[in-house]
Amino acid sequence: MNYNGVDFDTYLKHYPDENGYFGKYGGAYISDELRSAMEEITEAYFTISKSGKFINELRRIRREFQGRPTPISHLERLSGKCGRVQIYVKREDLNHTGAHKLNHCMGEALLAKYMGKKKVIAETGAGQHGVALATAAAYFGLECDIYMGAVDIKKQAPNVARMKILGANVIEVTDGLATLKEAVDAAFAAYAKDYKECIYCIGSVVGPHPFPMMVRDFQSVVGIEAREQFTEMTGELPDAIVACVGGGSNAAGFFAGFLNDPVDIYGVEPLGRGSKLGDHAASLTYGTEGVMHGFNSIMLKDENGEPAPVYSVASGLDYPSSGPEHAFLHDLGRVKYDVVNDDETIDAFFTLSRLEGIIPAIESSHAVAYAMKLAKKMEKGSILVNLSGRGDKDMDYIIEKYGIR
Ligand SMILES: *Cc1c(COP(=O)(O)O)cnc(C)c1O
Repeated sequence: MNYNGVDFDTYLKHYPDENGYFGKYGGAYISDELRSAMEEITEAYFTISKSGKFINELRRIRREFQGRPTPISHLERLSGKCGRVQIYVKREDLNHTGAHKLNHCMGEALLAKYMGKKKVIAETGAGQHGVALATAAAYFGLECDIYMGAVDIKKQAPNVARMKILGANVIEVTDGLATLKEAVDAAFAAYAKDYKECIYCIGSVVGPHPFPMMVRDFQSVVGIEAREQFTEMTGELPDAIVACVGGGSNAAGFFAGFLNDPVDIYGVEPLGRGSKLGDHAASLTYGTEGVMHGFNSIMLKDENGEPAPVYSVASGLDYPSSGPEHAFLHDLGRVKYDVVNDDETIDAFFTLSRLEGIIPAIESSHAVAYAMKLAKKMEKGSILVNLSGRGDKDMDYIIEKYGIR
């Protein structure tokens, strides 16, 4: 399928290009030390991860350890409430550790093992990526250093405990505001010093090349499975697919399976409390082009052009940019990016729990909320939502802040 000059038959092969660009977005805006480290990873990725041995091992791990393929569920009662459209969910909440993040962490850690690395390094904000990577490191017998802001360590005690139980070192970062941005800087600095022994494992389709490509490719198992399962279940393709977008990894992997199909694709960003800067994290909707954390994309900036403070009820969506591929698909118009606010999200959280017996992550609740709105607008057809994770991690927070609705 050709869409605005881009050939989607061969898209995954040609995007990004060899320098990591999706159109004008992506690339690697980094120091020379990090550049050699990224070149080493890129080279290893293209040789090792395309080998039959690696592919077979990852397949086996996904089946035997992760619980893949995850099923698709038809949401009959939720569909009935929203009109005549049938809503389905791809159950990434049923992955081991409860979210899609393990898909790329197992891939990245397996690559580390093949490269002979001893240690994996990463940053974490809410701790979800840290837990997934600590899990992968334990599985492969790798050391694991997780950099985390002091403020986040206090807020996310259960995830800090999980990482420690899994054997990871949680390294407290006290610079600046002591949250995710400082943790990213500290983790990259540690990595630049020690890149011969270790590998950086990023948490989403962000950062310098090759990460946006690598993470998308590891996550594309979601979209490839979903397309096959959905057509087997219903005999046709969905009319629309929906995923939430923070950094954009669950969306990128899910969309990858459908980009070449006559399917409407929606990425949902968090509108939070409203459209004022600082009240949301809808970077593609309200942002402008700029470079941060080593890549060029669309981002939310403050008056000095620095990454702006952002807010979302979902800590996993709380990032002032999104991966370069999303910026590209946004400009191209192949994916439509839209927003839902906190209230709509919390309403979807309870509605899905009550009507279907599935407690979604607050991040994923954004996608569910959007699908409910979209279903009411469509006359007929089907919507497939990527349910990126389960809501166990969010229950205490929701009860404290919103009570039982
Ligand atoms: C981290 C997380 C997200 C956001 O990350 P993306 O890279 O945008 O997918 C979404 N859903 C869940 C459940 C998460 O844990």
